[in-house]
Amino acid sequence: MSEDHGGFEGVRENLDGNPMWNLMGYAVPYWPRLTAGVAASFLTRFARLVPPIIVGAAIDRVIRGSGEPGLLTTVGLLPAGTIEGEAARLALLQRLVVIAALAYLVRSVTRFASRYLLQSTAQKIQRDLRDDSYDHIQRLSMDFFATHQTGGMMSILNSDINRLESFLNTEFRQFIRMVATVGGIAVVLAYYSPKLALVALAPVPVIGVASWFFLSWIEPRYKSIRETVARLNTRLENNLSGAAVIKAFDRYDFEHDRVAAQSETYHDEKVAALRIRRGFFAALRLVTGVVFVVALFVAGRDIIAGRPGALTAGTVAVFFLYLRRLYSPMRRVGKSANKYQLAKSSAERVFGLLAQEPSVTSPADASVPEELDGRVTFDGVTFAYEERPVVRDVSLEVPAGATVGLAGPTGAGKSTLLKLVPRFHDADEGTVRVDGRDVREYDLQALRDHVAVVEQQPYLFSGTVAENIAYGDREVLDDETGRDPDGPVDETARRARERVRAAAEAAEADAFIAELPEGYDTQIGERGVKLSGGQRQRVAIARALLNDPEVIIFDEATSDVDTETERRIQESIDRLVEDRTAFVIAHRLSTIQNADRVVVMDEGAVVEQGTHADLLAAGGDYADLWRAQADERPVSADD
Ligand code: ADP
Repeated sequence: MSEDHGGFEGVRENLDGNPMWNLMGYAVPYWPRLTAGVAASFLTRFARLVPPIIVGAAIDRVIRGSGEPGLLTTVGLLPAGTIEGEAARLALLQRLVVIAALAYLVRSVTRFASRYLLQSTAQKIQRDLRDDSYDHIQRLSMDFFATHQTGGMMSILNSDINRLESFLNTEFRQFIRMVATVGGIAVVLAYYSPKLALVALAPVPVIGVASWFFLSWIEPRYKSIRETVARLNTRLENNLSGAAVIKAFDRYDFEHDRVAAQSETYHDEKVAALRIRRGFFAALRLVTGVVFVVALFVAGRDIIAGRPGALTAGTVAVFFLYLRRLYSPMRRVGKSANKYQLAKSSAERVFGLLAQEPSVTSPADASVPEELDGRVTFDGVTFAYEERPVVRDVSLEVPAGATVGLAGPTGAGKSTLLKLVPRFHDADEGTVRVDGRDVREYDLQALRDHVAVVEQQPYLFSGTVAENIAYGDREVLDDETGRDPDGPVDETARRARERVRAAAEAAEADAFIAELPEGYDTQIGERGVKLSGGQRQRVAIARALLNDPEVIIFDEATSDVDTETERRIQESIDRLVEDRTAFVIAHRLSTIQNADRVVVMDEGAVVEQGTHADLLAAGGDYADLWRAQADERPVSADD
């Protein structure tokens, strides 16, 4: 994936403030679960501190028989006083064993609880985020889809959201681990010897800060490495796909040099980063070593000199057992910071997307018409895709029930002009009206219920033929989805199927559907029957007709269809345009020769209009086009 994430780098501009707060907002509803999880997590960490203390107590009290009070004595778990005699030592040992067993039990129970509670919270947040993002994307306007790649949206819905989940899951736990471990160890060590606690803890902030700096230094380098890898991969992929061309021109050496140069860059960058990374971690180990040596000396000297407050043998053991544990979460600070940065950029995309406002929305006091006449007016309409004018000052008055054919070269702006009627885009200048009312005043849903569009290459979903047609009406769709073709048919299901069938008949699709292996219940799409272009379009026409719209926009398929299919599509168009206002974008002019009016567009403007006969007589662009297409047409009386 390219570094601009399919056009999604820009969505972060919709945000102000740190998007990680927005992420926290998603955690709020789960606060009881979250609090319990955090508490359990702390308990796990504290339970893990117990075994070294037990080892210390075993050495001092059981083995050495010393009466010096340790932590366990102070908290009342062990009896005070010198331990003498085998029986007393054994009793003490038994008690230590029980405490250790309990500590392990607590640790495993709380570990289960904390992992389960925190991970399930992360899963719930992931689910909520995905549902919200998907729903939001769907409602964005067409201009957003035009400028953002599907791949980018998929990567937000997948990778970015998954990354946030794993951040919450792993790094949050690491954070608790660090706070609880460092805090717990600090308390225990300070209890035994503030001096040694200081020696042990002094490097903690140093390691934290050093990790942070290390990461800010290495991160841009890793980014550059990722880019180099991406370029190298593209080059390799290109060369393998173009193997035939390379052979044909015998360009092996040329390509070898290009690949080798990129391979070399990658190698150099990687080795440089490796050097620094390994050096950093070696230095960290050195810090641990220094602490070890200093502590060993300080503690040992105190013991030898018999200074007051000198550590016992058992406490020295506790100290060294803790030392390792103290620094291992610290070493992860850098990694966590890295994960945090990555999660933050994911959060920027996810929440930036969620903050993206649809450009086309229903007005506050929208008009929701029950029925329309279907009169369509374009009044001085101009529209540009990102500064590139595609429709220029178009004015047209189309009475209700009329059929308008649109002709003109590819890219003339015909589809774009008509997309302004159901508000897939809004005009930059001028007004589009239906029944004399600005389309921007209607409720969007209602407008689209009354203005149907059949695209040139209609999209059909995986599912049955009936479901695809039923898509045109929410109620029928609910009745059609999930129905069991072999199950009993109730009245609602029967009526839904009747409507689907009626629409299919009107679209001249009924006959071919009946011949499919399971008729209307045949699965189509990836996992089912593959329909031809003509059949797909007729299913799409049925889908558009299901709601009996007053205005229909039909973009004729350009794909080569045989004469028979063309005749059938023609028939369905004839049915389609009956009793409603129809716009037909024609690629074969024969399709629109019976239209009430033919509008010819070029470079976004209307250049000619009139009936087929008028335009032929005028001898302009349309007449030229008509003659040019004569060869492709079955011979008719007009030629
Ligand atoms: P026609 O239907 O006459 O073939 P269109 O309305 O499809 O013409 O396209 C008009 C022009 O607008 C073309 O140059 C096309 O490349 C451009 N265009 C169409 N859709 C988009 C889009 N989503 N984003 C940017 N440009 C577009």
